[in-house]
Amino acid sequence: MQTWYAVVIVMILVSVAACQPTIVPTATATVPPATPLAQASPRPTQTPRPILQPTDTPLIPTIGANRRFAPTGVTLIPIIPTPVLLAAAPALPPQAFRVGQSAAGRDILGWRIGTGERVLLLVGGIHAGYEANTVMLVRELIDHFQRAPADVLPGITLILVPVANPDGLERGRVAEGRFNGNGVDLNRNWGCEWSAEAYWKSNRVNPGSQPFSEPETRALAALVGEVRPAAAVFYHSAAHGVFAGDCQPGGGVSGTLAAVLGEAAGYPYGEPFSAYQVSGTAPNWLDGQGIPAVDVELTGTRDSEFIPNLRGVMAVQRWLTGGLDAGR
Ligand SMILES: [Zn+2]
Repeated sequence: MQTWYAVVIVMILVSVAACQPTIVPTATATVPPATPLAQASPRPTQTPRPILQPTDTPLIPTIGANRRFAPTGVTLIPIIPTPVLLAAAPALPPQAFRVGQSAAGRDILGWRIGTGERVLLLVGGIHAGYEANTVMLVRELIDHFQRAPADVLPGITLILVPVANPDGLERGRVAEGRFNGNGVDLNRNWGCEWSAEAYWKSNRVNPGSQPFSEPETRALAALVGEVRPAAAVFYHSAAHGVFAGDCQPGGGVSGTLAAVLGEAAGYPYGEPFSAYQVSGTAPNWLDGQGIPAVDVELTGTRDSEFIPNLRGVMAVQRWLTGGLDAGR
């Protein structure tokens, strides 16, 4: 009888073990590197402006589950996900990945939609709560492209980051809602023409202690280094217009992107942002890396202006895939 019991107990244990779920790290889609862009010819009469790299500052490693490799010169300490860590991490929505974390430890999420070799990066909410309609816009774009994947054109991968500055989002439309958990304006913290004296209108704002001092800026720059976008759009409100990044000797590489997007969306373009002095902005730094980049300033502060901006994103995709005359 004892032998019979032992056999039954072993059979039960084996069947229980077989029912245990296997924890498998979430697979991350591989984005092939975009085709390198033609370099702008340097003009010898122009003095090159200093372009700093995020590698000039120490980088705090982020959770590495979604990182495939770091930008050149940046050392990320690999963190091997354990079943315990995976179990503790909140589940990510479909197609989402972690870009990094904010100063206050909030996750910055990105969405990757499409499998093409040319990456179009779309970033909302760098000024967070003060410009929350840009968060709404990028969330609506994510929703649209998830429902209508055929609108991601062949050859394109969209990477969408709806909330670049999650710390400022919950503060709402107050001045502090523009800044991260360290009180820094994240669109004054990049490495082209960074200045310790930075402005928003006539107000002094904190640009950080040095270029890329903030974890959000470093995370976004690392994402740029990783996926090497063919073009990038940062959404703001509400100066009404498309403003090209410019950090190249003799003029940047971003003018055509501004024209394509501005024409399609019906926003003015072609003039530099001149309302007040700005320094250390994201599109300028990307432009300095040879990546066409613009700020889109929505017209108002409430509506997401989804329809004109969907038209803009579609036109940029056609331009990137050669289906739109870039010469206009
Ligand atoms: Zn803004």
